[in-house]
Order: sequence, then C-alpha cells, then structure tokens
Amino acid sequence: MGGNKGRKLEFLVADWLSRGVRAVVTCGASDSNFIRQLAVVGRMVGIEVHAAVMDLPFDSAAGRPKGHSTYRGNEVLSIQAGAKLYKEADGDWEDMYESMEQISRDLNNEGVFAEVVPVGGSSPQGVHAFVQASKELNETFDTIVVASSSGSTHVGLATAFHGTATRVIGISADPEPTLVEDFAVLSQAYGERTGGLALTKFDLDLRFVGPGYGVPSEGGRRAQQKLLESEGIYLDPVYTAKAFDGFMNLAAEGVLGSKALFWHTGGMPSIFTEFA
Ligand SMILES: *Cc1c(COP(=O)(O)O)cnc(C)c1O
Repeated sequence: MGGNKGRKLEFLVADWLSRGVRAVVTCGASDSNFIRQLAVVGRMVGIEVHAAVMDLPFDSAAGRPKGHSTYRGNEVLSIQAGAKLYKEADGDWEDMYESMEQISRDLNNEGVFAEVVPVGGSSPQGVHAFVQASKELNETFDTIVVASSSGSTHVGLATAFHGTATRVIGISADPEPTLVEDFAVLSQAYGERTGGLALTKFDLDLRFVGPGYGVPSEGGRRAQQKLLESEGIYLDPVYTAKAFDGFMNLAAEGVLGSKALFWHTGGMPSIFTEFA
C-alpha cells in the first residue's frame, strides 16, 4: 500500500527483536500510515501492537482544524492486521501522548515487556532508514522535495545530503513552526549514536498545510488532479498532495534548480478516507 514507514520499521523491528520486546505502543490519527504498517509488521514477527488514536488530533496552539473524516482507509487495514486501537474523542496530541504512556505502563504492570514507539517511527533508527534510502538514488539532483511531519524522513535525507550540492526541502503536513526544533533533537540523538554530526537547520516549508493536519487542502486537491492527469500517479490527501502542491509552487518560484526530485512517500489508503 506504499508508505515511508516500512523503511523505518526494517530497523526498528530488528532492535525490538534483539531486546525481547513483546509489545509496542504508539499513537496517531486513526488513519495513520505508520500504525497500519506497524500493525502488519507486528503481526508478522509476533509483537503486539497497541495504539491510542483520534480521528483528528490537533496542535492546541494552532487550534482544532475544521473538518471530519469517515471511512478511514488505514484504520480498516490496521484492525485487519490485529492492532489494538484505543479510540478517543478528538483532542490535542498531548492528551494522546499521555494515553500512550498509560497503555504502556498497564502492559508492563501485567508483565508484558512493552515499549513506547515515537509517533511516525521517528527514532534514530527511522533517521538511519532514510540515510540508507538516499543511497538508492543513482542520479544527482539540485533539489529533493519530500512530505514532512514527524521528521525522520526529512532528517535522514538532510543528513545524507549535508555538505553536497543537493538541497532537501520538506513540505510540512503539520502547522507547527516549532516542528524544526523536534527535528534538531532527533538529529542530535542520531548523531550521538553514529558519532556523526547533528544538524540544527532544516528547510521546512509550512505554507502548504491548508486547514490543518489530516484535513485536505485546496491546493493539494489540485495537485492530486494534476499529477493524475499528467503522469497517472495518485497522491494521498494528508501528506503527498500537499507536498506536491509545494513542489509545483517552488518550481514556479524558481527555487528548485534545473533538476528536481519529488520523493513520493506513499500513503495510498488515505485516498479511501472520506473528508467532510
Ligand atoms: C508519515 C508520512 C510522511 C512524513 O514522514 P515523517 O518521517 O513522519 O516526517 C510523509 N508521507 C506519508 C505518506 C507518511 O505516511
């Protein structure tokens, strides 16, 4: 079904298995691509997957975005793969982090070795996955544009191309300008593990979020139609449509150089989520 989280899970799972982790606990939107891919991988390797979910979690400073979603594509697939979802009424991310910690404590009290997984799999292993992924490119680009949210995709690519002529630009799926501070913390943690450098600056463009995280934008809708009619490629409404909207705008602004790459991060099941 596509999604950048598979690459992260390759390294996360190896770590859990080596340490005898029996259950993992995370949180996110009901329509989370990460929870869906985690659910499948957990099922395959015999690790329980628990997740606190909200249909539309929001950043309290940015406020509750307008809109609601039903028929959530990823949620159906997560349940089918056997994940245990603890659904809460919409609220802010802080509430959901608390629930996630509580679920983990409860499992450990019951004697199940459970561990909390950062949202979106953005741990140093997640960063490593995208440092590795960068090596699969066999051409050189002036600019790489990618959808960005919990950060390990962006941080991994930015780390890989640091000091080269390639500029990595993330198009944010979240409204919080403080997101880059989390990226710096993540980069620091990765740098400490690998003995490499920690980045403090990231090219994160916040202009294309639209109404908020998880709510489709007008520009994103147009970008979806544009790529579909010109290349036959689908984009998801939460991440890649907004990123491609950014990509086209940056191209029009003339900042992409002569050879640019749009890095499609997947997320196809969200196409089957209905927004109102
Ligand atoms: C999670 C996700 C992203 C953002 O990746 P992060 O590493 O969380 O920043 C982009 N696109 C899709 C489809 C995703 O599911």
